[in-house]
Amino acid sequence: MNKKTDLSISYRKKLLKPIKRAVVKVGSGVLTAKNGLNRRVISALTNDICGLRKKGIEIILVSSGAIASGLKITGLTKRPVSISQQQAIAAVGQSSLMMAYENAFGRHGQKVAQILITRDDLNHRSRYLNARNTIFTLLSWKIIPIINENDTVVVDEIKFGDNDNLSAMVTNMTESHLLINLTDIDGLFDRDPRTHKDARLINVVEKVNREIMSYAGSIPGFLGTGGMAGKIKAVHKATLGGVPAIIANGRKQGILREIFTGREEGTLFLPQDITLPCRKHWIAFTKSSKGEIIIDSGAGEALKKRGKSLLPSGIKEVRGKFSLGDSVILLNENNQELAVGMVNYNSGDIKKIMGLKSTEIESRLGYKHDDEVIHRDNLVITDGMNDGDDVCLLRE
Ligand code: GLU
Repeated sequence: MNKKTDLSISYRKKLLKPIKRAVVKVGSGVLTAKNGLNRRVISALTNDICGLRKKGIEIILVSSGAIASGLKITGLTKRPVSISQQQAIAAVGQSSLMMAYENAFGRHGQKVAQILITRDDLNHRSRYLNARNTIFTLLSWKIIPIINENDTVVVDEIKFGDNDNLSAMVTNMTESHLLINLTDIDGLFDRDPRTHKDARLINVVEKVNREIMSYAGSIPGFLGTGGMAGKIKAVHKATLGGVPAIIANGRKQGILREIFTGREEGTLFLPQDITLPCRKHWIAFTKSSKGEIIIDSGAGEALKKRGKSLLPSGIKEVRGKFSLGDSVILLNENNQELAVGMVNYNSGDIKKIMGLKSTEIESRLGYKHDDEVIHRDNLVITDGMNDGDDVCLLRE
């Protein structure tokens, strides 16, 4: 089927029909109005979500709005610069956000649960799996998980970046079949619709490339923390897990219901051909990378074409300080990203063994964990996940 030309309602319908679990991300711009939380929007979204639940579709909400809501409650007109004040505002706003959801869902007899996480939680496999098990348990109890970043404890270095990014990670973590990102614009336009009357809404994106990113760049400013570019990077990550994603207008009454009928709402991002199993997706896009390893062309070929592991002999340079088990980016000698993987040795020891044969590891270090610096099972080839050399689109 020609995906590009077949944009009909029946195509979307077919794509959406098997979906039984979806992540819905709602941005601060959608949830807040002049005087604080926008109860009308919250009530409309809640109606839609309860309708979907009745049809047997599980929904996991990723909701922003804590800081925006906290600002109104504390009477501040703009976001303070001080971290502790921002964290305090999030603490104020998060409880009012949850209260608004509890009230709105409560009218339908629907229970909800609050989950606050940090990037650091998802970096550790065991904590990641704990969060996942909690969400699965809630879903099995027919309770809707409402997730936000734990803004009261994070500082910039350990932030997800934005909730767009968090929602992509949650989609993979929960093995959801669809990611919907609700924002305050109808979707991705080819230029800024505020200043260009002829701006065209892109209905479907087969693959994120430079052209698509350039459209995002033309719409700066008003879309919350990550802007449109952040949203596209995030949905792209989700599509690399083999699921479709939709960016749509969360202020439109009945938007979720309409999306699930197959109506052409928002911009649909198609699932990618290269799809990663959950754990590999986690290595590539959830776990933060702590450094870089430059490898020679022979090693690059062996990884890409022959499915091999990374041995010390192919390593040319080690950048950054990292520990055993950390995730690092592998680059070729032209600094282009080839892969991401979890290392079996720390950065200091890799520097000592680079260029050597695996049989020489023990005599050089006085111990040997493994023959490989990165085992194939812990390696993800990222080269080719974007058009041309645009792999960097995937990185924060
Ligand atoms: N976690 C933040 C909040 O609830 C929002 C971050 C974001 O929108 O990206 O206010």
